[in-house]
Amino acid sequence: MKKIQAIRGMNDLLPADSPLWQYVESVVTDILARYAYQEIRFPIVEATELFKRSIGEVTDIVEKEMYTFEDRNGDSLTLRPEGTACCVRACEENGLLYNQTQRLWYMGPMFRHERPQKGRYRQFHQIGVETFGIQGPDIDAEVLVLSARILRDLGVAEHVRLQINSLGSADARAAYKQALVAYLDGVKDQLDEDSKRRLDTNPLRILDSKDVNTQRLLDAAPVLLDYLDEVSREHFEGLKSLLNAAGVAYQVNPRLVRGLDYYGKTAFEWVTDKLGSQSTVCAGGRYDGLVEQLGGKPTPAVGFGIGLERLVLLLQAAEVVPDGLDQQTDIYLVAVGDVQPQAIKFAERIRDELPFVRLMVNCGGGNFKTQLKRADKSGAEMALILGEDEVKSDKVGIKFLRDELEQQLLSFDEAIVYLQSLE
Ligand code: ATP
Ligand code: MG
Repeated sequence: MKKIQAIRGMNDLLPADSPLWQYVESVVTDILARYAYQEIRFPIVEATELFKRSIGEVTDIVEKEMYTFEDRNGDSLTLRPEGTACCVRACEENGLLYNQTQRLWYMGPMFRHERPQKGRYRQFHQIGVETFGIQGPDIDAEVLVLSARILRDLGVAEHVRLQINSLGSADARAAYKQALVAYLDGVKDQLDEDSKRRLDTNPLRILDSKDVNTQRLLDAAPVLLDYLDEVSREHFEGLKSLLNAAGVAYQVNPRLVRGLDYYGKTAFEWVTDKLGSQSTVCAGGRYDGLVEQLGGKPTPAVGFGIGLERLVLLLQAAEVVPDGLDQQTDIYLVAVGDVQPQAIKFAERIRDELPFVRLMVNCGGGNFKTQLKRADKSGAEMALILGEDEVKSDKVGIKFLRDELEQQLLSFDEAIVYLQSLE
């Protein structure tokens, strides 16, 4: 029979790799706690309208990347392609944005129907940060300082650089769009196909084009920063001086834009040279208009998303994966003969009194030799040995599997004290 396979671009995370993911997730979530950010969880499926209204109808995501389907009621639902819109929906619906500030994070899978390649998948995972209710550049600086600490503590600081830009107010962007389109119209026949199409739909995204020739044409194009409104300019200057004060290095990239329509003022990306063209590890910015756009009161907001697959790939490429992450078993309990009741009881006692020990109990029988082989394969440092003789004399054997130490025979109490002395 033909075996059923996973959906293209959607990956399994196997036991050999999950310790690295757990390590990355715990480093990040520990840091988030130290900045007093709180976790929020929301569904993986939302009304399609939520994404259309927030991300924008003429963005790549909404035009061609969403997993949209009709459920049995005939409602149009979409697997979330990103978390910001969901987070805003959840906060609004639960009254978290009324007269208060929020500093939030979430973690989980996102879905986009893109061409799968290294660092680009159809189910991928993000840790996202969203803050609400704070207008000034101090909070922009805070989320950037936080993201810098994440990358530093994971050991990849020297492989990433921070790029920042200001997208200005909606009016400033509109004025700039006009100037950009006027210029690009004059060189239209030299643009790549994607950019030609975007000229009518989403011209700012042309700045982001990977096409070398288009990039060369952009060298002579009007520059977004020259069109900034006064408020955005001051905000951007404020952010830069706070980053300077915090010692976070950055480059101003006047062509940095985001693929989602809700961003304004600050935009930023952490990029790396180590992952080919999938170079953005973390991306975000300010989206002061989104809450109102989704039906709430005007609420300033800034956030970012980290792509976890890319972050893990970066740790591997930079060779900064810590040793010893995959230690699974410390102790293997060998139970030979009719001793299951004593084995299960003693194992629970060890787990009560030695909560940090990873103890695996032999299941499925087997003679002494078979069980010892399993103990060795488990990676355990030592085997506890419980046979009928041991049980009769109320004792347990301790056999060292990696060191040249002599085997011991101890009472259950002595064994517990001995194991505790090793911790
Ligand atoms: P890109 O320009 O690389 O397509 P993006 O601008 O579409 O990224 P965002 O929507 O800002 O990305 O998402 C934030 C982060 O999530 C990205 O910087 C990246 O690390 C990660 N990411 C986005 N799309 C994917 C994907 N298809 N597979 C894996 N990671 C992704
Ligand atoms: Mg994208």
